[in-house]
Amino acid sequence: MLRYSLAKLADKPKGSKVELPAVDVRLSAEKQYYAALRSMLIQIAAMTRESIIPLYQSEQEQKRAARAYTADADRSWFAGLQALANQLQRIASTTVNRILDLEAERHTETFMATAKRALGINLQAVVTQEDLGGYLQLAVARNASLIESLSADVVKRVEQTVYANSVAGNSVTTLRKALQEQFGITDRRAKLIARDQTSKFNSDLNKFRQQQAGVTSYVWVTSHDERVRALHRKLDGKTYKWGEATGAEQGLPPGQPINCRCGARGIVEF
Ligand SMILES: [Zn+2]
Repeated sequence: MLRYSLAKLADKPKGSKVELPAVDVRLSAEKQYYAALRSMLIQIAAMTRESIIPLYQSEQEQKRAARAYTADADRSWFAGLQALANQLQRIASTTVNRILDLEAERHTETFMATAKRALGINLQAVVTQEDLGGYLQLAVARNASLIESLSADVVKRVEQTVYANSVAGNSVTTLRKALQEQFGITDRRAKLIARDQTSKFNSDLNKFRQQQAGVTSYVWVTSHDERVRALHRKLDGKTYKWGEATGAEQGLPPGQPINCRCGARGIVEF
């Protein structure tokens, strides 16, 4: 990574300070991310409806007809679902990679525009997208692993729900309801992953771009609305050094605690 000094590039009186606004999270990125996960979950739910519920139904009918023990649900029922989930998880990861790439580009452009507005300097020749290479690789790996575990979790939930209902001898209607509940849980988890990961990604990029520019401290800024948690409201306006533990959960910087929408205004000291 090429390091440079924003303070040296801008022409400001010695001893003065300028605050550099953080680049905000873009809501549409979070929505696109969630849509990619949702599409995966919807297709898994559809296959569950089309292939596993009919197997369950015929098992229930055989049990009634024979009035005796017949074959219960077994792992072979879920092999197709597992294969589909593996395939969909790779597709979702590819889509999310694309979203993160575009977000990184958008972040770089917005950061440059902010520096121009706040300090009157043009960073076109200094800042490049390639600077982010190593970090982007890490972010891509982290997101792929979360998507993989979401997909494994949904298959496991389907499997366990079918077994539990089969053992209890529940009707197809009861099984359907139980499955819907499980899909509801994974959908909420998908939403949380999308929100949390886009926010963390944006927060990481802010930190990266500020540190690259020689900015060593920042001001914690909340979104100043009623959704800000009490703990973060207390941090609003506080100054921290990058790398120093904050007063937030686990000492994390703004945008890193779960569901945190706070930002870091970089302090450029001349
Ligand atoms: Zn916060």
